[in-house]
Amino acid sequence: MKGARHLPRPGRVWLIGAGPGDPGLMTARSLEVIAQADVILADKLIPPTALDGARSDAEVIDVGKLGGGPQVPQEETHRLLLEHALAGRSVARVKGGDPFVFGRGGEEAQLCREHGIPFEVVPGVTAGIAASAYAGIPVTHRDLSSAVAFVTGHENPERPESRIDWPALAAFPGTLVFYMGVKALPRIAEQLVAGGRAASEPAAVVQSGTLPSQRVVTGTLADIAARAKEAGVRPPSITVVGPVAGLTEEIGWLGRGPLAGVSVVVTRARPQASGMAATLRDLGARVVEAPAIRIEPVDVTLPDLASFDTLVVTSPNGAHRLFEELRAAGLDARALAGMRIATVGPGSANALRSHGIEPDLVPGRAVGEALAEALSGLDVQRALVARAEEAREVVPDALKAAGAEVEKLVLYRTVPEPLADRDRDAALGADWALFTSGSAVRSFTAAVGVDAIRESSLKLASIGPVTTEALHAAGLDPDVEAPEHTPSGLVSALVERVGG
Ligand code: SAH
Repeated sequence: MKGARHLPRPGRVWLIGAGPGDPGLMTARSLEVIAQADVILADKLIPPTALDGARSDAEVIDVGKLGGGPQVPQEETHRLLLEHALAGRSVARVKGGDPFVFGRGGEEAQLCREHGIPFEVVPGVTAGIAASAYAGIPVTHRDLSSAVAFVTGHENPERPESRIDWPALAAFPGTLVFYMGVKALPRIAEQLVAGGRAASEPAAVVQSGTLPSQRVVTGTLADIAARAKEAGVRPPSITVVGPVAGLTEEIGWLGRGPLAGVSVVVTRARPQASGMAATLRDLGARVVEAPAIRIEPVDVTLPDLASFDTLVVTSPNGAHRLFEELRAAGLDARALAGMRIATVGPGSANALRSHGIEPDLVPGRAVGEALAEALSGLDVQRALVARAEEAREVVPDALKAAGAEVEKLVLYRTVPEPLADRDRDAALGADWALFTSGSAVRSFTAAVGVDAIRESSLKLASIGPVTTEALHAAGLDPDVEAPEHTPSGLVSALVERVGG
């Protein structure tokens, strides 16, 4: 076959459903596939954190379209799919909800088959089921509904064959769930009543289901359109019609708890944010994640650990990074044997415990000054301080002043991360912003703007004096400073303030 042209073998395409918006509703399989992809073709209506696990060298192409806004034509999406897959790359096509429910995934699968490109489908939790569930609406119910139909409310006037068969739908013996039907809501309600459904039949509109901004408007076929209009309902929304829609009062469950109805911005870097976000959600808060900082590992060469008598760990990230480096060097916790191990607070202490180390010293107050004071009473000869590049000098300075030799082991830095417009808007529209570090203050104010924060009705909560100082330096005043300088102390302070 001399001279024959060797075409690259086609890559592989995954048609992935990323669920309706709550990151927790992404499947394990979707995260796995996104993590290995060379190329990601992403829609707009996917969870805000959906691509966090993507490879840092993956090419991410936004082929999204937002209701009414400019949209990448489907032909262009097809062209991109083909181009990358035929060049031998693995392509993750990430869609909101389920890829085969009003997601045009069927067409994309046909395209792949036509061109001999291997593909897989990763189903997702569709909005019709998830938004209903988060609003307390079971789409079927033993006593109330034994069938459910998913219907598009979006009528394309140029395609007469896609017109909805209203009489048939009105006669459908079960729950109707309309997608893409905000504009058409008056017509939907009218036509269903004209087709024989009772005007008193319950109906509910769920906007931004499963997201922090979820809203539910309830009514009957007679008044749901007017109520939705009055409430200013916007896409993405689904409309549920049927007796089950009346259950939302009884079994709506989202946002009950001491922080019910309160929206809270979490400004920590993502791996840390998720724990705090989950706690806040459990308390009923609507959480807006605006991670204006990211942790970036710094390359290190481990020093001769045996030459130190004291190890100081000043942050949970420092603890985790240290163990990453130990593992990379073929070592484990035994390499720290014999050292006195001190931390700045309970967060760092817990991080160390997760690696099998019980720290010898955890000061009562989680600030560098308290640790410096605690260390000053001990006979420290040589100390290793594991920390962030931008960490404060309080601890090393205090150790040096007490006559110790100090080596800093810089394991990571926190770098500012720009916020997408919609994250910025969501953050400025929230009730509270929580700050757990000075670097979070600096990155968030840089990303959002101090004036914009002042003009908003955002209230600010600080984890402790150092973070408060950073707020002051930015020209802002916290409304609350946590008496206990830990993430859970901050959340408690917020609960107390909101409740009181
Ligand atoms: N494949 C998606 C649907 C895409 S069509 C799925 O399976 O869910 C887009 C429509 O889905 C929107 O107009 C809206 O009707 C619905 N939708 C998507 N996300 C939603 C959400 N978080 N809350 C309510 N409706 C949503």
